[in-house]
Amino acid sequence: MEQKKQKPTAENETLIVSRRIQRVSLHLSPVPRPLHQHDTQEQLGLFPCARSAKLEVETEKLSLYMRGKYREIQEKIYEYFHARPELQTPLEISKDVHRELCWRQMYGLIKEAGIRPLKYVVEDPGKYFAIVEAAGAVDISLGIKLGVQYSLWGGSVINLGTKKHKDKYFEGIDSLDYPGCFAMTELHHGSNVQGLQTVATFDPITDEFIINTPSDGAIKWWIGNAAVHGKFASVFAKLMLPAQDVKGVSDMGVHAFIVPLRDLKTHQELPGIEIHDCGHKVGLNGVDNGALRFTSVRIPRDNLLNRFGDVSRDGKYTSSLPTINKRFAATLGELVGGRVSLASSSTSILKIANAIAIRYSLLRQQFGPPNQPEVSILDYQSQQHKLMPMLASTYAFHFATSYLVEIYSQMKTTHAEQLVGDVHGLSAGLKAYVTSYTAKSLSVCREACGGHGYAAVNRFGILRNDHDIFQTFEGDNTVLLQQVAADLLKQYKQKFQGGTLAVTWNYLRESMNTYLSQPNPVTARWEGVEHLRDPKFQLDAFRYRTSRLLQSAAVRLRKHSKTLGGFGAWNRCLNHLLTLAESHIESVILAKFIETVEKCPDASTRAALKLVCDLYALNHIWNDIGTYRNVDYVAPNKAKAIHKQTDYLSFQVRNIAKELVDAFDLPDHVTRAPIAMQSEAYAQYTQFVGF
Ligand SMILES: Cc1cc2nc3c(=O)[nH]c(=O)nc-3n(C[C@H](O)[C@H](O)[C@H](O)COP(=O)(O)OP(=O)(O)OC[C@H]3O[C@@H](n4cnc5c(N)ncnc54)[C@H](O)[C@@H]3O)c2cc1C
Repeated sequence: MEQKKQKPTAENETLIVSRRIQRVSLHLSPVPRPLHQHDTQEQLGLFPCARSAKLEVETEKLSLYMRGKYREIQEKIYEYFHARPELQTPLEISKDVHRELCWRQMYGLIKEAGIRPLKYVVEDPGKYFAIVEAAGAVDISLGIKLGVQYSLWGGSVINLGTKKHKDKYFEGIDSLDYPGCFAMTELHHGSNVQGLQTVATFDPITDEFIINTPSDGAIKWWIGNAAVHGKFASVFAKLMLPAQDVKGVSDMGVHAFIVPLRDLKTHQELPGIEIHDCGHKVGLNGVDNGALRFTSVRIPRDNLLNRFGDVSRDGKYTSSLPTINKRFAATLGELVGGRVSLASSSTSILKIANAIAIRYSLLRQQFGPPNQPEVSILDYQSQQHKLMPMLASTYAFHFATSYLVEIYSQMKTTHAEQLVGDVHGLSAGLKAYVTSYTAKSLSVCREACGGHGYAAVNRFGILRNDHDIFQTFEGDNTVLLQQVAADLLKQYKQKFQGGTLAVTWNYLRESMNTYLSQPNPVTARWEGVEHLRDPKFQLDAFRYRTSRLLQSAAVRLRKHSKTLGGFGAWNRCLNHLLTLAESHIESVILAKFIETVEKCPDASTRAALKLVCDLYALNHIWNDIGTYRNVDYVAPNKAKAIHKQTDYLSFQVRNIAKELVDAFDLPDHVTRAPIAMQSEAYAQYTQFVGF
């Protein structure tokens, strides 16, 4: 029973204020409380209630369940850098020194540690993503530099080229003898790749392509590896052929070409190549981004990456794909690996931030009940609200991105057609969703650690600055979410025409009929804990929301296109479409999480994961409660029950938070050392609680 609130009198108001002043002044000049090894857990001051009903979690078992198949290679990378302090990135480092260090880190991994990423890009993509993820945990610049060399430059040669290209370049790329770039973006065109202006004109007399930058706006910009280290680039340009019947040339659309940039021995820029430095950036300063201008650069016809379109000796164009649009889609479709890699690396960065913020919040004590020790800041409800749903999301992303890596690997190794749609939609959606979430969370984690979070040694600053651009490169997030929305609408249309749906989209088949009928007034009032924690209720709620957004988007688009045309109608509904895409991705993430919980063989690990999964689901439903209330999907009593249950789950997850972050199994020098290094006192804390 809730206690009736007493009306505050002037007298007890004064009492409250003076108690508050007392506490704050204690905080400003605290009574020193020495930390000794024999201090007990009591003195760390957990709220007594915080220790009640704690689930037993065995970190080892949880960690084992989470680990991918590729832990061994990740440990090899961590150990390699741990054993070489001279290769670890110092806190204060200039751009030029960082670039050279990043090169030496990559060189060491390949030449000394014997890692061959390109081999895995082809044979075992999951292992390749694990390498990039581990390298990124050491220094995000290194993860990105590897991505440029192997996913972008290497990936474009392997996926857009044919056997002759693999025979000629594979070994040089894998061994780092051929460092290269991926030159797609131009000064005037980033997201709109079809608007690129660089041209590659075929010269039938010399059997060459001539690469030209026709205007300043067509200068290739932001090209990783170009400013200092790259010797080659895969350059995206419009393929121009001399027209057969009329004077002039025919534009065959955007294709990729291998263009040597620098002399292999002297490293001098080759004739017609002009390279500029994009300079100091907000983050990722270990990567040398540059700008490229081409003036009549001649390359052999063989340098056209000709998997989707070829030019014969006599200048005839052939392709298995009938239109420019289809060839363009196939070309870009081969490059989704970069998005898969960013989604999984971003999740890994979120794990690091979570681990630092949560461990710190367990140790840090501020205020407390009168005449009692101060309490851990993680015992404050507000701190739990900042960090526990985030921890739940980190787990959710871990399982969702692991699934994405798995289906991407299957698609690449089996070439199974039915996976293509799924991988494309999910890689765009997860890359956008996860990287946006991580970017916001990095600031929350910094803030959750107060002033110490601002010390560079605790990593939030560098993580935030380096990760920020994950939201933009490999496809701007707003643009990628539109691809997801467009895909959903296409599938929605096909559903009514009896077509097949991609696996991840399958739920829409049932959901549209079930979910679009009026909400059931009886279940709308159910508020029992068992019901709220039933995965069916949770998933139904997520899918209901997505289905309604999809149906209403389709209706609105149809209506507006009559007056505004297709482009105008899309723009009029853009925010609606972005919400739809996010809602769909959230549904897919939850479905994967539920499946992973149910499959877990160990009962106590399953119980812990179920708790985290419930928090993920109910916190989302609560955040969107307005949507559910508007259509009476959830009655007022149920909304209240969801809120209470979310608070309770945050609290329960807080009780096992240490085990949950330990299960990430991150090496000490990635997360633990910074806090221990902060000061003597923190070193003692760290030792004391056995972190
Ligand atoms: C550090 C770094 C490294 C990079 N490395 C490489 C590389 O190695 N190779 C390479 O080729 N490129 C590289 N890039 C370029 C990167 O891929 C592009 O910056 C990215 O694709 C976005 O393009 P843009 O910068 O032109 O942004 P724009 O497309 O101009 O976007 C600007 C804003 O407009 C919005 N916007 C654009 N179109 C739409 C739309 N249709 N609907 C709604 N909103 C829209 C976006 O959401 C964004 O907020 C790199 C960039 C950086 C910063």
